[in-house]
Formats: sequence, structure tokens, C-alpha cells
Amino acid sequence: MAKQKTAYVCNDCGSDYTKWQGQCSDCGAWNSLAELRLGPTPSNRSAKFDGYAGSAESELKTLSDIDLADVPRFSSGTSEFDRVLGGGLVPGSVVLIGGHPGAGKSTLLLQTLCYLAQTMPALYVTGEESLQQVAMRAQRLGLPTASLKMMSETSAESICAAAQKMQPKVMVVDSIQVVHMADVASAPGSVSQVRESAAFLTRFAKQTGTVLVLVGHVTKEGSLAGPKVLEHMIDCSILLEGSNDSRFRTLRGSKNRFGAVNELGVFAMTELGLKEVKNPSAIFLQRGDQVASGSLVMVMWEGTRPLLVEIQALVDDSHMGNPRRVAVGLDQNRLSMLLAVLHRHGGIMVGDQDVYVNVVGGVKVVETSADLALLLAVVSSFRDQALPQDLMVFGEVGLSGEIRPVPSGQERLREAAKHGFKRAIVPAANATKSGVAGMEVVAVKTLAEALDAI
Ligand SMILES: [Zn+2]
Repeated sequence: MAKQKTAYVCNDCGSDYTKWQGQCSDCGAWNSLAELRLGPTPSNRSAKFDGYAGSAESELKTLSDIDLADVPRFSSGTSEFDRVLGGGLVPGSVVLIGGHPGAGKSTLLLQTLCYLAQTMPALYVTGEESLQQVAMRAQRLGLPTASLKMMSETSAESICAAAQKMQPKVMVVDSIQVVHMADVASAPGSVSQVRESAAFLTRFAKQTGTVLVLVGHVTKEGSLAGPKVLEHMIDCSILLEGSNDSRFRTLRGSKNRFGAVNELGVFAMTELGLKEVKNPSAIFLQRGDQVASGSLVMVMWEGTRPLLVEIQALVDDSHMGNPRRVAVGLDQNRLSMLLAVLHRHGGIMVGDQDVYVNVVGGVKVVETSADLALLLAVVSSFRDQALPQDLMVFGEVGLSGEIRPVPSGQERLREAAKHGFKRAIVPAANATKSGVAGMEVVAVKTLAEALDAI
């Protein structure tokens, strides 16, 4: 008889233990370990190993003989989605889409599948909504519903059995948190259930060449539930973000075995579902004719393209002993650090002021190229002097007040010129002699020089 194995899995972070313990030593959570009975390993498995890498018959090849054009991809129907996927969907790949409830994950996938179903067999498995609810949404969005196959099911075994019969090219499972397997003892949604179900579905996708899209909900902290568990299994992890009060949604890849990560896709939520935004710079830059103080435009680099965003700052007298530092869309600690640099190397003291900074449009800036724009916006608000409307700024600020270059400087300058910006303050190392047509580029080496330039 095959031996049954037992493991203990933390329900918070997904760490594995061979013995039960009161506290997870990885994430520190108390009483979060649950028993996970792993099914007996089949002993009569065929001599061939079936790994994750695909079901194709293994043969030895020289590295140079491998045909690079061989990765077959097909379009998801929207170029913004394709961009984040690295050029389209790859057969046999597993894509995880995460996001807050209401972000539009189900809408995006329903749209995509209705489109794909017109040319290939596609299956939408819903475990959270009833079939009627999904059908009502499809009707409301005016989608072509004639060929998409639907199923309401939460058992991983039943899903795969149905898919085996139907042989879809694309399958969506909405969501992985409600899928369960019969021989796993814990409740649906727990890390061990998510892990075992995802592994089961992934194996099915790899062996049949089906594109599997899993929907995952995010926790309060903004990470996917059981992230570590799923991370190594899936090929591509994508997060759909956007606040409920904003019309815009961003799709961002955090892992992709078939393309560049950190690609950004932009969508607008309309009555007819998510519509792709092909020129995102234009929407994030809707400014009035009269620009107030504290507003400045920078170019950030997202994956493989530049994106113009507006940074706003508000500096006001503080009436508290501990002035506030609030950053929305930017890193709060970095803001504090930059304000210290501003005092020490720029001679501008905002220690008795509340400082609020915000990136317009709900965009998140994670790169350091926003440093200089942020500080100049703060100074503009502090002095109550509006900066020229056609001014664009980027550059990293170092702790000794030096302005450091950022990657893809020329592309950023060209993008700004394309959108009608006439002046730019950039790191000296990013400014070339030939310059950019129609643009006056001020190259700066230190923060003091940058402050002189405005
Ligand atoms: Zn843990």
C-alpha cells in the first residue's frame, strides 16, 4: 500500500512544515498551521516523468537548434492585455489574475473569453457567481454569447473531467480560492486547498496544452492569498488595480516566464465593460488651462514604454507637534528621505509643514526617477509659485544632493516632446549634446542647480 504523507501548511503565508508548531517561523502568525494530507503517490506511474515543462516527448536538442519562433501565441483580443502577457497567450501556460473585489477581473475575463470563443473552444468556470449572474453581465455588456461554454463548479476534479471531455483551448477558473479537492482535509480558501487545487489544475493545463487563467483575490495588504504557494506553479502573475472612484484600471505583471515583467496595461471602465486605453499619457495628463502651484509632470518608465504622469504636492503650516507626511502613489519613506535631502542640500526647510504628495489618476510610481519632480513640486507648493505648464522633470536624487541619471532618458524626453512639452530639467548624464527637437533641455548635476533652474 502506498504511504500517505502529512505536511503542515501555514494558512497565512503557505510555508511548509513536517511537524505542527504553535507559531509559523516564517511569518510569525500564531495557530495558523493546518494539517495537509497529501494523497498517496501513485507507485505504478509510467516510467516517463511528466513534469511542469510540458507534455511533449522529450528529446535532446542543441541550444542553437531550438526554434525561437516556436512559442505559439495567440492574441487575447485586446492589445493592452497582450502587452502585459508578453505578446499574447501561450498554450499550456497558467496565468494568475489578482485584484480587489470590484476591480473588474471577472468583467475583463468574460469579455476576453467571449471574444476568443468565436474562434476556438473556450470554457468559463464560475465558482462564485451563478450562471445567471454571469449571463446577465454578458448581456449587459453586449458581448457575443453564442459560443462560450459555461460551468458552475468548485471541485477541481470535476472541472478537469469536464475540460477533458470538452478540450477547450482556454479555460478560466473564477476564482481559485473557492476550488477544492476531495482528498484535502481543510476548508476551501485555505492555503492547502488553494495549493493542491492549483497544482492539480496546472498539471492538467500543462499536459493538455490548455491556457489556464486563474482568478485570485487579494488580501487586505494587497498581496494574493497564499502567494508563495502559487508563485512557483504559475507562469504569469498579473494584478488588476484601480480604486472604485477612478474610471481607470491598470493591469500590471509581476512575474512572466514568457515576456517582460512590469508591463503596464491601461483600461477604462465603461458601461460596456473594460475598454483599452491606447495612449495612457493623454488621460493621466488632463490638466486645466491654469496650472496651480505644486503640480509638475514627470515621465515614468513602465515595462517597455514611457508614461507621462502628473505629481501634485501640497505644503501647509502644521498645527501638530509631528507634521504629517502623506504620500499617495509614492513611497512614504522615500518622501521623508527626500525632504531631508531638500533641507540639507537645497536649504529649504519644511520641518514645520505638513507635506502631502499625490500621483494623479491613481497611478503607482515605484521607480526613483520621480524624486526630482517630487521635490520640485514640493518647493513649488511651499513657495506658492506655479511651475510652467510645459515643463517636464525626471531624475533620481541621491543622499548627497546629486542628481543621478535614470534608464531610457532619451525615450522619456522624446515622449514628453511628443505631448507638447517645451522645457525639461533632467540629470546631466541623461541629456545628450544633440538634444531633442523642439525642447529646451536643462541638464543638472545637483539639487541646488535644479532649484536654480525653476
Ligand atoms: Zn506563515
